[in-house]
Amino acid sequence: MATVQPIAADSSSFVQREYSPAAKRALARKPALFINNEWVSSSHGATLIVEDPSTGREVGRIVDASDADVDRAVAAARAAFDDGRWSNLPPKVRERTINKLADLLEAHAAEFAELEAIDNGKPVGFAAMIDVPGSVDHLRYMAGWASKIGGEVQDPLGMPRGQVFSYVSRQPVGVAAQIIPWNFPLIMATLKISPALAAGCTLVLKPAEQTSVTALRLADFVAEAGFPPGVINVITGNGHTAGDRLVKHPDVDKVAFTGSTEVGKIINRSATDSLKRVTLELGGKSPVIVMPDVNVDEVAPAAAGSVFFNAGQICVAGSRLFAHRSIFDRMLEGVSKASGFWRPRPSLDPEGHMGPLVSKEQMDRVMGYIEKGKRDGASVAVGGDAAAANGYYVNPTVLVDVKPSMSVVREEIFGPVLVAQRFDTLDEVAKAANDTSYGLAASIWTRDVSAMHKLAARLKAGTVWGNCHAVIDPALPFGGFKQSGIGREQGRQGIEAYTELKTVIIQL
Ligand code: ADP
Repeated sequence: MATVQPIAADSSSFVQREYSPAAKRALARKPALFINNEWVSSSHGATLIVEDPSTGREVGRIVDASDADVDRAVAAARAAFDDGRWSNLPPKVRERTINKLADLLEAHAAEFAELEAIDNGKPVGFAAMIDVPGSVDHLRYMAGWASKIGGEVQDPLGMPRGQVFSYVSRQPVGVAAQIIPWNFPLIMATLKISPALAAGCTLVLKPAEQTSVTALRLADFVAEAGFPPGVINVITGNGHTAGDRLVKHPDVDKVAFTGSTEVGKIINRSATDSLKRVTLELGGKSPVIVMPDVNVDEVAPAAAGSVFFNAGQICVAGSRLFAHRSIFDRMLEGVSKASGFWRPRPSLDPEGHMGPLVSKEQMDRVMGYIEKGKRDGASVAVGGDAAAANGYYVNPTVLVDVKPSMSVVREEIFGPVLVAQRFDTLDEVAKAANDTSYGLAASIWTRDVSAMHKLAARLKAGTVWGNCHAVIDPALPFGGFKQSGIGREQGRQGIEAYTELKTVIIQL
C-alpha cells in the first residue's frame, strides 16, 4: 500500500552558517581538563576530535583522559568531599551557589545554544528554546532542594517512649561519577550535577566523547559561581577507557549514567565489585497509542514530532506508532505530511527543525536498521534515505508492514525512524505496547477518560503521557521500568538518590 516518497535534497543546500566569534573562541581552546577549579593538561597529551556533524569537519580538540587524569579528578573530588568544604556549608550557601551557576549559564544562553548546535547537530533554535532554558531549570529546581531535604524522627517499635531518641537523617552519598550521552549534552550535564550538588556530594562529570564542548564551557563558570575547588570536576575522554576507569574507581561512591542499555549493563557490572550506588537511565522503544476518537489533524503532527524531534536521538522517542485500525490510514497520511516539517537542515539554520545525526557512526547505524527493516519485509512510507551531503543527514522515515519480531520494531534505533502498526482493541494494543524489553515511556492519545486510565495502568513504563509526549519536567521523577533503567532522576527522588539514610538510636 505504501509508496516511497524520498525527500528531495540538494547537497548545495546543506551549507553551515559561519560560527560567531564567541563560539570560535570556545572551540579553539587548548584541550584541558577541569580539576580542582583549574584547567589542567592531560598526563599523556592524547586528544579526540570535535566534529561539526552538519559538515563532517573537525572544529576543535578535547582531551582523551588517561587513567592518571581520571585518578587526579577523583582524588580532587574525594578530598573536597572528605573535608566537608561543600557538604558542611549552610544549605542556603549551596542553594545560592547552584543558582549562581544557573544565572551565569543564562547570561551566556546564546553562546551555549550555538555551541550545542555545532557540537551535537541539533537546530540552534531548539537548543535556545529547549536545551539551555531546560538546563537552567534543572539547576534552579534542585538548588531549592539543598535547603529542603531532611530526615525524620521515628520512635522505635519496641522501646518505651522517653528513654530513647531515634531519628533518620540523610547524608550525601559522597563522590559521584556521572557519565552522560551525546543527545542532550548540556541538559544531561545539569540534570546530573544539580542533585549531587544540592545533596552535598562532589563529582566528576564525563560528557560523551562526541559532545563535550558545552560541559567544558559550563566548567568555565564553576569558580565564578563560588564552588570550592574539587566540587565539580569535568573530564573528557572515551567511554571504554576514561569512563570505565571512573566507574571502577575505588574512591567513587556513586555512579549515575545515562546512555544505551548495552553500556548501562556494562557499567552496572563494573560498579558491582565495590557495591557502588548506581542509577541508570537507559534506552527505550516508546509506544504512541492513538485511539479512534482523536482529531487526526492534530494528533498526526504530534506523533511525527514525538519521533522526529532531536532527529529521534532521544530516549523517549515515540518510535512505535499504534493507531487504531479505523484511523490508521489517515494517521499515516498525516504523519507522512508532517515529516516535511522535519526535513534535515544544518544546525545553525535558524529555520531548521531537525539537524544531522550526531556522527557518521550513528548515521550508519540508523541506515543499517532501515536497510535491515526493508530486507525483513517492511515498506518505506516516507524517507528511508540519507541526504546527499557531507554532514550526517537522515531523512524522517516511516516504516509500515512491520512485524513484531523485526529488529526495527524491537530495538532502539535512536534516529528519525517510526514503525507504524494497527490495532483493534485496547487489550491487544496494551499487550503489543508492552511487548518490548524496554519500559521508559509511552503516550496515549484519546479523549476517552476510561481508555486513558485503563491503558495508563497497564503500560509498563516509567512515564505515561496523555495527549502529549516527551514532557519531561525537573519536578517529576523520570526513569525506566525493565531494561530502561534503575532508579529515578528529578523531583524529590532525584536528590534522594544522592543520599544515604542513617538511622540513629540513642538510649537516653
Ligand atoms: P551511545 O551508544 O548512544 O553512543 P553510550 O551508551 O555508548 O551511548 O555512551 C554514553 C556514555 O557512556 C558516553 O559518555 C560514553 O563515553 C560512556 N561509555 C561508553 N562505554 C563505557 C564504559 N564501558 N564504561 C563507562 N562509560 C562508558
